[in-house]
Amino acid sequence: MQQEFQLIGLMDAVEKWNGKLNLISFKSRKELDIKHVRDSLSLLNVFELEGGQRVLDLGAGGGFPGLPLAIMAPETEFVLVDSTTKKMLAVQEIANELGLENVSTVAERAETLAHDDRYREAYGLVVARALAPLPTLLEYAAGFVCVNGMFVAYKSADYEVELEESETAMEKLGFEFMGPVEYALDEDMGARSLLIFQKIEALDDKYPRKSGTPKKKPL
Ligand code: SAH
Repeated sequence: MQQEFQLIGLMDAVEKWNGKLNLISFKSRKELDIKHVRDSLSLLNVFELEGGQRVLDLGAGGGFPGLPLAIMAPETEFVLVDSTTKKMLAVQEIANELGLENVSTVAERAETLAHDDRYREAYGLVVARALAPLPTLLEYAAGFVCVNGMFVAYKSADYEVELEESETAMEKLGFEFMGPVEYALDEDMGARSLLIFQKIEALDDKYPRKSGTPKKKPL
């Protein structure tokens, strides 16, 4: 019950902040709920988040999927990362208002933070939604996932081409594709998928390449 109230509080906060800062786009409260909050929670149909586990949300923007997940998994520690400082300040404030003690934020680019020892290959689970095409995304994520850890990309239903284009990236970064989980949003709001990858090898020091390169020249 408390969690349902927190989800409502999250939507109130996002609506309030969106006037000042474009955190996330939605046309109605229902769309915010189904396309963003419920979509974020789809991970929980696949993974059971445990106490003491640490999850990193890469390119978290206005806090999705990290904040809804942090509400539903209060014993799990969430680190939300985004290169835009203003967004991370807003997200930290929202988390504090909601009393989410399991959320911290870092304003930094993925390519830089992944070379920091405190973050490098330090997470058993990394998630990202609407951040970049898959080959680029895999290079951003690889720096944070520990060996045997998982990376989950929230994608649309059309992931086949992106996946085919990621063969080289997967091989160079030590990722193995475990499969898609396809699902439909409520009220016919669209089809989505979670693409699940396991990191099977330690990452070469040269990855991720310097800021901007994973996007300009995907592997
Ligand atoms: N995950 C959120 C936001 C998606 S928008 C959601 O689903 O709503 C993508 C976000 O990624 C933006 O906020 C942008 O600032 C951030 N971003 C883009 N490139 C990045 C990089 N290289 N490192 C970290 N954050 C990045």
